[in-house]
Amino acid sequence: METLYRKYRPQSFSDVAEQEHVLRTIQQQLAKNTVAHAYLFSGPRGTGKTTIARLLAKALNCEARVDGVSEPCNTCSSCTDFASGRFMSCIEIDAASQTGVDNVRDNIIENARFAPSRGKFKVFILDEVHMLSGSSFNALLKTLEEPPAHAIFILATTELHKIPATIASRCQRFEFHRVPPVVMMPRLKKIAEAEGFTIDDDVLAQISRLSEGCLRDAESLLGQVLALGERSITLAVASLVLPMTNIAVVTDVVDAVAKHDAQEALKIVGTFVSDGGSVKHLIEELLEYVRTVMFAALGDTTMDAYDAKTIERLRAAGSMMGIARSQKFLDGLLAARTRSSLPAIPQIPLEIAILDACDVRSVAASIAPITPIAASPIIPPAQALVPSVIPAQAGIHPLVVEVQAAPDVPIRYDFAPIQQIESLVADAAVASPDAPLFPLEDLVNKWERCIAVTAEDNIALPLVLRGAVPSRIEGNTVTLNCAYVFHADALKEAKAKKIVEDAIEKILLHRVNIVSVHVPAKANTDAVTDFISGLGGAIA
Ligand SMILES: [Zn+2]
Repeated sequence: METLYRKYRPQSFSDVAEQEHVLRTIQQQLAKNTVAHAYLFSGPRGTGKTTIARLLAKALNCEARVDGVSEPCNTCSSCTDFASGRFMSCIEIDAASQTGVDNVRDNIIENARFAPSRGKFKVFILDEVHMLSGSSFNALLKTLEEPPAHAIFILATTELHKIPATIASRCQRFEFHRVPPVVMMPRLKKIAEAEGFTIDDDVLAQISRLSEGCLRDAESLLGQVLALGERSITLAVASLVLPMTNIAVVTDVVDAVAKHDAQEALKIVGTFVSDGGSVKHLIEELLEYVRTVMFAALGDTTMDAYDAKTIERLRAAGSMMGIARSQKFLDGLLAARTRSSLPAIPQIPLEIAILDACDVRSVAASIAPITPIAASPIIPPAQALVPSVIPAQAGIHPLVVEVQAAPDVPIRYDFAPIQQIESLVADAAVASPDAPLFPLEDLVNKWERCIAVTAEDNIALPLVLRGAVPSRIEGNTVTLNCAYVFHADALKEAKAKKIVEDAIEKILLHRVNIVSVHVPAKANTDAVTDFISGLGGAIA
């Protein structure tokens, strides 16, 4: 049976989906009759080098082609002979089997001296040209330096670095790229349909992934899938010939990690292993997937190696995990791939990578709800807000929290309640807009200094501010309770407000937004009493 790759080999440039950058230049040269005498096509195997070389040879010798046209007609006798392999003026040489200088001399250099028996050009396509010996390259170099007018050389290689610079510099060079899924999948679909099959997108996506950008491999895999004889090809059908994929497990694990749900992620891995899945393969697929998640987090949209449903989940995971956490997971997976484990529990390194990527902060969140610390001022004195190491909770990794020290001396503090740890970590990350920019008591302790600073700009303000008590901080918003309505109003005035905010910034090094509210004297005193007794003190 004819292979799909041969059967569907493009007959015109317009049929070639891949390597658009190469096609554009070559078609322009054909239309303007400015074709070069030597080309060097480099790039991975199966990316269309020979296909485009043959099309160029055919178009150059097409009898019907006129100036301005860049396609072979495919109907003249030259074109039809070409299609059936009878055209003698296109000489294809596999350099890998003809590395010796004698072969090169006889088959290429001597041959090139004679004008073609048919057509205008003799085209030499030298595949795997990097295999030629040094003396062969030397012999060829002289011909490339002064090529006969009727000779065109197309050198193709998968290993550009093995081509002598002297040869490369004589050629017009084109780099061929791996065929991306976005180009490959529609092409595979077209072929399947032309063969009378319907094929699911996730099958095409998997073939595309497995072939790693090599169209020839992809079409060969497609051929194997079509040969199964089912007219409608689903992933279940295709899995008979395609290597097993764990994409369902991969997406479930990543979704759980994105939600910081370590328990769920570990459970999925556990089930996978007890069902006999290969941890090694799972890690490899996770690596590929999480890498795409990271690109998604960066805003990349070229993730068509997956079907539409998977892409949707991939994007969601990307926005949930962000760049930093997906990078962390990727890093952990790379480490897990090289770490050894107990043979009976092969998943340990993977489990560690998952736990790391889940972030302890949110594991804690799933144990205890977050209570904003500002709402209930029960924290210890200000200078203690510098925990260095928080003791590990059962089942939770110890977490080192680096909170920027206040000007005071840092003291190590062992916090017990998870809520406090939560708030502190939130402070450190300035994650939530409602998390206080700094502890309220910092402002209370330095309130007199702030008032003194305002005096420099407005001598009336200290009077107003002495009647005001900082009562709350949420995010960067500080609420000042004023005993008199006119004090509250005075602080709402833009100029006064700015002076107070400037003063607080000068003393506490944070820009805040102040909101003044009128709280009758009695209630205000209660608030102060509550606050101070919350600190463990008492009003004398
Ligand atoms: Zn023709």
